[in-house]
Amino acid sequence: MTKNANLRFDALKECTRRHAERFHMENAKISEYFGINVFDRETMRKYLSADAFAAVENAVDGGEKIDRKYADLIAAGMKNWAVERGVTHYTHWFQPLNEATAEKHDAFIEPDKNSRVFESFKGDLLVQQEPDASSFPSGGLRNTFEARGYTAWDPSSPAFIIDRTLCIPTVFVSYTGESLDLKTPLLKANAALDKAATKVCQMFDRDVRRVYSTLGLEQEYFLVDSALFNARPDLLQTGRTLMGHTAAKDQQLEDHYFGSIPSRASAFMKDLETEAYKLGIPLKTRHNEVAPHQFECAPSFEEANLAIDHNLLLMSLMRKIAKQHQLKVIFHEKPFAGINGSGKHSNWSMMTDKGKNLLSPGKTPRTNLQFLTFFVCTISAAHEHGYLLMSSVANLSNSYRLGGNEAPPSILSVFLGKTLSEILDSLENTISTKKMTPDEKTDLKLNIVGKIPEIMPDNTDRNRTSPFAFTGNRFEFRAVGSSSNPAASIIVLNAAVAQQLTKFYGEVEEFIAKGMKKDEAIFQVLRKFIKQSHNILFDGNGYSLEWHDEAQKRGLKGINSTTDAFGAYLMENSRKLFSQFNIFSDRELEARYEIMNETYMKKIQIESRVLGDLAINHIIPIAIQYQNVLTENLRGLKEFYSEKEFEQLAAPQLATLKEISMHVKEIRTQVENMIEERKKANAVENIVEKAKTYSNKVLPYLNSIRYHIDKLELEIDDAMWSLPKYRELLFLH
Ligand code: ADP
Ligand code: MG
Repeated sequence: MTKNANLRFDALKECTRRHAERFHMENAKISEYFGINVFDRETMRKYLSADAFAAVENAVDGGEKIDRKYADLIAAGMKNWAVERGVTHYTHWFQPLNEATAEKHDAFIEPDKNSRVFESFKGDLLVQQEPDASSFPSGGLRNTFEARGYTAWDPSSPAFIIDRTLCIPTVFVSYTGESLDLKTPLLKANAALDKAATKVCQMFDRDVRRVYSTLGLEQEYFLVDSALFNARPDLLQTGRTLMGHTAAKDQQLEDHYFGSIPSRASAFMKDLETEAYKLGIPLKTRHNEVAPHQFECAPSFEEANLAIDHNLLLMSLMRKIAKQHQLKVIFHEKPFAGINGSGKHSNWSMMTDKGKNLLSPGKTPRTNLQFLTFFVCTISAAHEHGYLLMSSVANLSNSYRLGGNEAPPSILSVFLGKTLSEILDSLENTISTKKMTPDEKTDLKLNIVGKIPEIMPDNTDRNRTSPFAFTGNRFEFRAVGSSSNPAASIIVLNAAVAQQLTKFYGEVEEFIAKGMKKDEAIFQVLRKFIKQSHNILFDGNGYSLEWHDEAQKRGLKGINSTTDAFGAYLMENSRKLFSQFNIFSDRELEARYEIMNETYMKKIQIESRVLGDLAINHIIPIAIQYQNVLTENLRGLKEFYSEKEFEQLAAPQLATLKEISMHVKEIRTQVENMIEERKKANAVENIVEKAKTYSNKVLPYLNSIRYHIDKLELEIDDAMWSLPKYRELLFLH
């Protein structure tokens, strides 16, 4: 066969294989193909020697380092499995600080002496890789001339196959050992939580060996027809619409939420689910969201590190599969003005190696006391680091969503529901600081601790307006943005909870050392923690203005400015938290601070440029074209009619002409002023000052220019308006 015929034959074979696979999947049970593209424990057992397998298990469960001598064996096993599945390349898959995932692909091949190649993959390539790190943000940690960053395998997240490439989840650190990603600090925060929580657990159950945080991420997104999406340069370049009048009908009738899923969307979801299952992502729910063409999918919860890897993987899978359906998936937090934005609700809890959810009340006073301990320590953590926790979600795109309609307010408060609020109140009031009598202790155990219902009645009556709500057996952090890497928030949350648990343990031990009985010591410390965290508890309507006043009275700091929020990472209290558990050094914090400011500033710069360009070379020319139509019409009228008749007939056109001129003039002037402000801001050297200048001087123009463009959209002939409108973007079927 000729070369071309060979290629065609290969393509045909591939096509048939895909069809067969698709047919097979459609008729197969999920459990039959779940995780087939993952090098999970079950697969490892088949491809690794007993020693090598044990080395991986010890690394995953016990945090031990993998010995170099096993690395080669593991790499070989991984390669053999992958090559059998048609894989040709491998990549270290990591999470740099620009909120995306990155990969660099290398082929498995090694040349041999006969100018041929053979498939090979050595341990040192698995355990460590050295991509050129110069183009990832590092906040001055690494000068470009020493552009070296290392990626190293994170064995707690299994390797997987996408597009005939073996992807190896890795951490990304600089040559000097500072982290350049979100995974490294996450693993450190997880380890801190494990250590602190295990110690506290052992007060109740000696056999607990490990505690990990669980995470269930609800991913919200919009789906838009890709042809329409591509016709909007603003969506294409900034991920959101910088202009567009609201459609006459959007979410007023509340008919989208839980309505039937449009057929194009459901075809996309089915394909997505199949691919996600093959990658071991346990997608569980899918439904419509509140806004038109807004949807949500959520996998079952998993260990936090894995849940986050899966979320990032899911997002890239969604982009890819949407393409096959001529759709675009939008993860931006506020792609359309005037309708709901998208979040990534982060359902969080802690679990022991014995499978006990520590935020789920138990059946006995003892397990309930354990529940109360973890519950109160979490509240205490939210109290101690509430502002930092809110800051962990702060960025430009989420700033358009937070505090807006139907989005969590930007002040952190905790919702507990009636039952638990009452329990905490009685605990606080019943426990006295004096030595308790045996009767008092029994009463406390039986009548308060013992009475916590196993299933919270508030579970059904949830407060959707709270950014951090207890929902029966977990907390739900709702402020996280849909496009973000949730690791940023989980690092803070896990570290903050680890800190409170450490403190709790220390204080209980102190009481015990003074001769107090363990239970009583626990009660005493709980009471103190409850008393200290009162301020943050709020069960009312978080969207209301009264809450803003009330929060101010309580001294709770909300996020008024995104650039100020970045500063939370440098506050003394935060530095202490991060250094206590070795999560970030001061240098790393400063680097991250710089990156947050830089990214924020650059994104405003891009939005401002896109809007400026569109306004001048798109909107104004259309407006002028329509003005020409109107003037032509007026000229005709003048020719046909008497002066008096003309005056009457021409009035509406003249009014429209005037209106259009006014808007065109405003747009022109404002764009010029915006460009001037941009020039001034660009001259600012200090990146933090520059970000603030962009925020204060350039950002406001985005709204005020948009206002005039949106007015023009209402006046100009629909046939001339070349940009797809909201009503088109949001209503495909
Ligand atoms: P809702 O929309 O009612 O909040 P969903 O069913 O959409 O609920 O999502 C709930 C998410 O919470 C799921 O991902 C689920 O797995 C997760 N979840 C449930 N229990 C826990 C837990 N103990 N820890 C972490 N996440 C949990
Ligand atoms: Mg939810």
